[in-house]
Amino acid sequence: MPRQRTADQEQVAQLLRTARDSLGLPLAFLSRLDGTTQHLEIIESPLPLVYKDGNTQDQGTSLCQAIIDEKLPAVIPDLRRYPEAMELPVAKWPRHIRSYVSVPVTLSDGSLYGTFCAAGFTADRNLGKRDKSLMEVLARAAALVMEPGVQENARRTEIENRLLPLISAGGPVVVLQPIVDLDGGRRVGAEALSRFPAEWGKAPDVCFAEAHSVGLGHVLELLALERAAEHLDRVGGYVSMNVSPGTLLTPECAALLGRLPARRILLELSEHDPVEDYPTLTEALAELRAHGMQLAIDDVGAGFSSLRHIVLTSPDVIKLDRSIVDGVSTDGVLATLVASLVAFAHGCGARVVAEGIETAEDAARLLTLEVDAGQGWHFGRPGPPEALGEAVAAQGEVAVPPQRSADDAGTGRHAGRQAGRRAGEAGSQPAAGPVTTGSPNVAP
Ligand code: C2E
Ligand code: CA
Ligand code: CA
Repeated sequence: MPRQRTADQEQVAQLLRTARDSLGLPLAFLSRLDGTTQHLEIIESPLPLVYKDGNTQDQGTSLCQAIIDEKLPAVIPDLRRYPEAMELPVAKWPRHIRSYVSVPVTLSDGSLYGTFCAAGFTADRNLGKRDKSLMEVLARAAALVMEPGVQENARRTEIENRLLPLISAGGPVVVLQPIVDLDGGRRVGAEALSRFPAEWGKAPDVCFAEAHSVGLGHVLELLALERAAEHLDRVGGYVSMNVSPGTLLTPECAALLGRLPARRILLELSEHDPVEDYPTLTEALAELRAHGMQLAIDDVGAGFSSLRHIVLTSPDVIKLDRSIVDGVSTDGVLATLVASLVAFAHGCGARVVAEGIETAEDAARLLTLEVDAGQGWHFGRPGPPEALGEAVAAQGEVAVPPQRSADDAGTGRHAGRQAGRRAGEAGSQPAAGPVTTGSPNVAP
């Protein structure tokens, strides 16, 4: 079965046909040289040939390599005039090659991709410099056509070479960052955040996006969820876990989440990639939520997250993005935006967690804006579960507030909390608080 050509390969085939027609030769091909093997990627000939697209031969004994090494000229009107050429396998192909033109295909970074060649089965004394020039022009055009695909392949290979060993080893390391009740400062939960090898120099969201771009996103996210779940036994409160809507819809994710203690998990869903099928998503979520798992919409206020996402998923928690939290104590416009999102969230029956809180001033302002819980360097950086445990021990035990009632959904609960509040209450030394064991349910 002949290999199906891609659109790029078809364009190169067109260039090869032009070469063949212009030079009056029966065969033209594009080859890729990988250092040891010559890959005859696209072969154009009206003749029935033994060689087909994708065939390979040893690069070291190829005519093209001898030409690159300048042991032979780029234009060979009659192979028989070069005894060293007659020794090469190509001279012994089922149809003997007797005339040959080969020019390099060079990519924009100067690297050699391969060769652009035309060949005849009889000597052709008319082949000359002008034919070489034409072939060079066509080879440049072929390089332009091939380059995006070559770069994409290199990108995929680089990502796979990094990710596959990490996946085999069990996935990323998962750290925990405290989530603190702004009114009282008790830690109520922690967000699980993935960490990839430092030498990659890439943020976790970039690593997940790269993994998805090569078809490894789901498996990587599932491993991150498994690693996050392992922390459940080591820490108190709820564990907030990030998952993309696409991964959430996989049967593997449903199975994994189904095995976990639902009431201790808050799923953080972002809208990095627009959700296309809300009914399917809400159906998958309904099953989990029926068992007590709670849902947060992440990154609210960031450009890509739409309010429609909130309306369609009715989350338990809305997480305000750092971009609208950082500086809220000094920026009246941000404060107004946060206030309206808080009113919107509470009106929908959702609690609000602000993330990226770096200062006591922002924490205090958020408290007056009726934000329920906070997360950020001001309260604690992401770290190993042991570090989270120590911090909790220093502050007192973890509080797990009782299950939210329908009444909590409105503003009443928050108005009540406002009483007796002082600016700066939610400082960097969260107050000790009792463990509320009434319900193991999640609440920020
Ligand atoms: P995110 O879910 O919005 O996580 C919050 C990010 O804010 C984290 O970045 C956290 O380290 C950072 N952060 C927390 N407090 C502060 C602060 O006070 N100041 C500043 N400047 N940053 C703060 P991180 O860990 O680099 O993660 C980036 C994103 O990668 C996450 O954003 C999330 O979208 C994604 N991600 C991380 N781990 C996972 C995972 O296990 N699964 C999935 N699906 N996504 C993940
Ligand atoms: Ca998150
Ligand atoms: Ca976020």
